[in-house]
Amino acid sequence: MAESRTPIPQAVTGTRAERIFPTLNGAQMQRLASHGSPRSVRTDEVLVELGDKDIPVFLVMSGELEVVRPSLTTQETLIRVVGPGQFTGEINTLSGRRAFARIRARQNSEVVQIARASLLALVQTDEELSDIVMGAFISRRVELLAQGLGDATLVGSSHSADTLRIKEFLTRNGHPYTYIDLERDADVESVLAHFGVSASDTPVLVCRGHTVLRNPTNREIANCLGFNEAVDESRVRDLVIIGAGPAGLAAAVYGASEGLDVLLLETFSPGGQAGASSKIENYLGFPTGISGNDLASRAYVQAQKFGAQMFLTTGTRLTCDRRPYLVELEGGAKILARAVVIATGAKYRKLPIKNLSRFEGAGVYYGATFIEAQLCSGEDIIVVGGGNSAGQAAVFLSQSTNHVYILVRGSGLAETMSKYLIRRIEQTPNITLLTHTELVDLEGDNHLERVTWRNNQTDETETKSIAHVFVMTGADPTTDWLGGCVVLDSKGFIKTGPDLTTEELHDAHWPLGRRPYLLETTLPGVFAVGDVRGGNVKRVASAVGEGSIAISFVHQVLKE
Ligand SMILES: Cc1cc2nc3c(=O)[nH]c(=O)nc-3n(C[C@H](O)[C@H](O)[C@H](O)COP(=O)(O)OP(=O)(O)OC[C@H]3O[C@@H](n4cnc5c(N)ncnc54)[C@H](O)[C@@H]3O)c2cc1C
Repeated sequence: MAESRTPIPQAVTGTRAERIFPTLNGAQMQRLASHGSPRSVRTDEVLVELGDKDIPVFLVMSGELEVVRPSLTTQETLIRVVGPGQFTGEINTLSGRRAFARIRARQNSEVVQIARASLLALVQTDEELSDIVMGAFISRRVELLAQGLGDATLVGSSHSADTLRIKEFLTRNGHPYTYIDLERDADVESVLAHFGVSASDTPVLVCRGHTVLRNPTNREIANCLGFNEAVDESRVRDLVIIGAGPAGLAAAVYGASEGLDVLLLETFSPGGQAGASSKIENYLGFPTGISGNDLASRAYVQAQKFGAQMFLTTGTRLTCDRRPYLVELEGGAKILARAVVIATGAKYRKLPIKNLSRFEGAGVYYGATFIEAQLCSGEDIIVVGGGNSAGQAAVFLSQSTNHVYILVRGSGLAETMSKYLIRRIEQTPNITLLTHTELVDLEGDNHLERVTWRNNQTDETETKSIAHVFVMTGADPTTDWLGGCVVLDSKGFIKTGPDLTTEELHDAHWPLGRRPYLLETTLPGVFAVGDVRGGNVKRVASAVGEGSIAISFVHQVLKE
């Protein structure tokens, strides 16, 4: 392995490098070492292999370890040399997911091996080391994401809706991957040949250098990369949270930090609707704004730090006529819960255009993050909708596109959008607001090529060569999966607490002498928070607030 002993190009230097790979002082080393057991390792001994589960952390006392990434077709890449006072580990160490890299002794070394459970205990109790370890883990993940260094390689095309879906699934789950583009990358042929696939099989995902998936579903990706492997499905949980948007994540952070055994169930990725936002500017504490994805990944890491786990799944079904409650998942898994928080939020509303689904992901998008922005750089685009999410998308996309047309059915934005966004739109020369205008037709072969819009006052239509439409027209509650377990209002939102009438409680066979708590549904111990709840103000802050408040009621229910 002599060829791998060259230092990596040090793109990261100075204080940033120190944050990613800090060197502990003597006292800190001693405290960290007290959570593990000493071990002598010989040159070239492999301590962690790519794909290993439940990976420990190694603190180097003397000698050197190297973190390397085996390559698909050529030699391995040296990611980092870890020296005395430094430690290995990454976010996967907290979550219990599989290793992204191989860790090997670069010379005979003395290390201390710290098991995952001991590390979790340490980050919850030792404030100073928690800051250093968590800071390093988060920075390492950010670096891996930025450099595309992970255990997955995606070969696809920027014109393919499925490539976009897979990219979004991996990115929003914070999973680093290498992307090879059919149209742009020179070595694409050799990679395809190496795995015995052709361009027509793409998008192709290669997991851990050996398993080749042709156009995999999100579930197949989650299984292949082991997203759910660390979760023990047989344990009765204190709290199962369904939905990992801002409301569910807040409930997970507060619940786990207050000692509850918490499992989050999520169909797509942490972040929910907020994860589709390029920049949230009105959330307290972030004066320069924060992208929805950053907010979600921070919250998810925070929940993991306190021991909460997440299971990615579809087909969630609540069985409501038994305690503990039973949540059934696709594939037959059954999770038992003493208390449940429903935080399934809302789904994007679609436009009434007959061939819309053909272009979803291939010119029609429901989120405006940097991934979509890259797809339409320098082009003309359309944002449909007059709410804050449409305003944010228009302002964000105007920075990288040629021209943005905002289409609204009504006469303006004043009633639906915050003033600060309206002002920004007015001051941005490459944004045009078209009022009383609706999209009526989409055309194209594999990708959207032309759109037609109609003025709903004059009936005049206009066709334009525009290949990217961002649909930001609001959302409907995600309550269809509940199968009548809890009482909903006339629009399908879940009714809770004081909103429930005595008659509704009687009809739902409410069994207790007390009335439901503030966020409690017609099922004792089942709460609803965030956008899915009737009367909720549809904002990140209110979702986070409700998710946090629900936990105090969960404690009361668990005592009953
Ligand atoms: C583009 C955009 C920009 C926005 N910008 C802002 C802003 O700047 N400021 C602001 O305050 N608000 C903003 N909002 C609104 C804000 O994002 C929402 O109010 C907030 O995300 C609601 O959080 P939630 O957790 O209740 O629901 P959601 O965010 O909708 O999350 C629900 C989660 O549940 C999951 N789920 C659904 N069904 C199931 C199931 N059966 N099983 C398991 N999981 C399930 C979903 O996949 C999702 O992750 C924006 C919304 C959008 C779409």
